[in-house]
Amino acid sequence: MGKLVINQNFVTEETFKELQKVCPFGAFEYDGNELSINASCRNCKQCVKRGPTGVITYVEEKEVITINKNEWRGLTVYVELEFGKIHAVVYELLGKAKELAEKINHPLYAVMIASKNQVDDNAKELLYYGVDKVFVYQDDLYEFFNIDRSFECMKDFVEKVKPTVILYGGTSLGRSFAPKVAAYFKTGLTADCTSLGIKDNTDLVQVRPAFGGNIMAQIICTKTRPQMATVRYKIFKKPEKEIPHGEIVYMNTSDIDKESVVKLLSHVKKEFNVDISEADVIVACGRAFKNEKDLSIAKELADLLGGVVACSRPLCEAGLMSTRYQIGLSGKTVSPKLIFVLGISGAIQFTSGMDNSDLIIAINSDPNAQIFDSAHYGIVGDVFKVVPELIKSIKEERGE
Ligand SMILES: Cc1cc2nc3c(=O)[nH]c(=O)nc-3n(C[C@H](O)[C@H](O)[C@H](O)COP(=O)(O)OP(=O)(O)OC[C@H]3O[C@@H](n4cnc5c(N)ncnc54)[C@H](O)[C@@H]3O)c2cc1C
Ligand code: SF4
Repeated sequence: MGKLVINQNFVTEETFKELQKVCPFGAFEYDGNELSINASCRNCKQCVKRGPTGVITYVEEKEVITINKNEWRGLTVYVELEFGKIHAVVYELLGKAKELAEKINHPLYAVMIASKNQVDDNAKELLYYGVDKVFVYQDDLYEFFNIDRSFECMKDFVEKVKPTVILYGGTSLGRSFAPKVAAYFKTGLTADCTSLGIKDNTDLVQVRPAFGGNIMAQIICTKTRPQMATVRYKIFKKPEKEIPHGEIVYMNTSDIDKESVVKLLSHVKKEFNVDISEADVIVACGRAFKNEKDLSIAKELADLLGGVVACSRPLCEAGLMSTRYQIGLSGKTVSPKLIFVLGISGAIQFTSGMDNSDLIIAINSDPNAQIFDSAHYGIVGDVFKVVPELIKSIKEERGE
């Protein structure tokens, strides 16, 4: 960043008029004595490029590094627990964090905030994923997630351990917890990253779709630590287990504030719903499907393959399917072993939620549909003709 500097010695009524002409935002003011730039300025620098020579200059400000990056060490994964068990996204994050940690020769950490009965097996399990230290905050008050108490623990962790990076699952819990920690430490947080890299100077390269998925933005937090990001479930692959070498570090919680304005009245398990993120086989339906009857052929194919039906956004907007089944940027990320993509054009906002799938088969009547760029196999045809044929041949093959 830099700033505009006015050389008042060169300012005259004429130069003011010239500047008025080149400034598209009417930002110049002149009282006959002094020239000034008002709040309408958009920093377009037209006055520097096209204005009278030497009146306005642009001075680059030197980057002020307020932290010593070398003091911040360790890539950390926040361990989210779901019904007392480690959420699957945690393993995926550990796999990625380990890869990044090795690149800059930093340790891999995990932070777990839990009750005693939740800690023992879970903390040991984490050590099988290359974790050097599992930092445990243990108290019976930590049995259920409470944002105030978890925040106090994370604050203690950051102040004592000074990790360079903290990764959270892009779950409802991660998305509510991470911003509170980031705001307290006045540091950056990038939500829903789809890729992560790291520079030699420990800056985390956080990649995520921006402007409605039209560009992939690279976000780097150059001046503050810790760097923080949330990553959705199923973006990274779960790593293989390895022989543990790390240790469990029990943090002292006696001085940590456990007060909270949030009171847990009861804990009710949500009704079981199909979670498309977990499915191995998905039949995804797009705008080509207009009503329940159309969807019934997708359901028949999904049942035959032991899979689930999901959809693109227009079906949710039309009220045909719940947003729970929506794949994509504003829906869920899936990576099944097999996905049929039926009557879906393949907009980036859709494909960004499924292009990690092992096998993608697209059926579309438009031979130029974008989805064929992402598909491993493509069939050009009417889904309402092709799918019944497909069902028939699967049944014949199975002798049904
Ligand atoms: C900020 C933002 C976030 C978004 N998030 C998401 C998201 O999470 N998920 C998502 O899906 N979209 C999302 N969208 C919308 C996205 O841009 C597309 O508009 C959407 O994915 C289009 O859905 P579609 O492919 O089903 O419909 P269309 O683009 O209308 O495509 C329908 C396709 O069906 C084919 N077709 C029609 N009839 C038949 C037939 N009988 N047989 C075979 N093929 C047929 C057509 O050739 C066409 O390719 C988002 C948009 C924005 C701006
Ligand atoms: S930078 Fe652009 S908007 Fe600002 S004063 Fe110059 S010309 Fe006007």
